[in-house]
Amino acid sequence: MGVLDTLKRLFAEQRTQTPASPASPPATDPVPSAGIGPTSMSPGPAVAELPRIGVAEPVCPHCGSMLEKMPGRKKKCPDCGEFIYVRTRPQDRVRVLVTGSQAQEIEGQWDVHHGYQSLSKRDTRSLTPDELWGQCNRDLLEHAKAGDWGLYRNTRLHMANIVHREGRLRQALQTYLEVCYLDLNGPCNVGGLQEHPELLEEYPPFRPDDVFLAPGVLAWVVEATRAMKLDDAGLASEFFEAASHPHSALSLPVSPQQAWPALLTALSEKQA
Ligand SMILES: [Zn+2]
Repeated sequence: MGVLDTLKRLFAEQRTQTPASPASPPATDPVPSAGIGPTSMSPGPAVAELPRIGVAEPVCPHCGSMLEKMPGRKKKCPDCGEFIYVRTRPQDRVRVLVTGSQAQEIEGQWDVHHGYQSLSKRDTRSLTPDELWGQCNRDLLEHAKAGDWGLYRNTRLHMANIVHREGRLRQALQTYLEVCYLDLNGPCNVGGLQEHPELLEEYPPFRPDDVFLAPGVLAWVVEATRAMKLDDAGLASEFFEAASHPHSALSLPVSPQQAWPALLTALSEKQA
């Protein structure tokens, strides 16, 4: 079977089903590419221009009452009883206190920060969820063919957000975990470098020594883990299930076994 067939099977994941079975045969070699000019992971459309949400002081974002100290994680306001969430703003990386809906808004900003843009250049806001899902699957295939693994990762994150908004908690968690796993492999956009094999050695598609775990994605993993009442062992099993297929199908340099301790550490810091 050709690499493209493998990719098509890999990406034929249905929104209404659990993620693709890890039983599919792995690709045997890295995906060839025919991109257009070297690109690097772009910061996306001007995230700096988006509104800065939340309060950086120990003040309830609901009722404005002063808190004893800056909470490190979600807590109830002692005055109004509403939940206060702690998030990191993409614009300035400042930890802020927000309401539940503001927390979702910040997650959307992280999405923009990571530059999700459909290849079709259509305004994806006008698409139905099914159309958007299909568009994402087509984008995945194109990014993989081109070797633009940063964009590929962004599309997976977008898909995680879609199922999360629909309340498909387990599928969302698995897809967020897959995004974390991709991040721990340092995905880069190397479309266009395929005609310059000498450069590919210098600029490999995955660079595990240059990794970034997005705070917004980690926050969703923490929340989904709590909602599903998973302990570390339960979360580990979700992670290994989510990571095994991309590991073999995309020939990722960092194995799930190598990636898990780093992710667990990052998640523990997030929960602290
Ligand atoms: Zn309050």
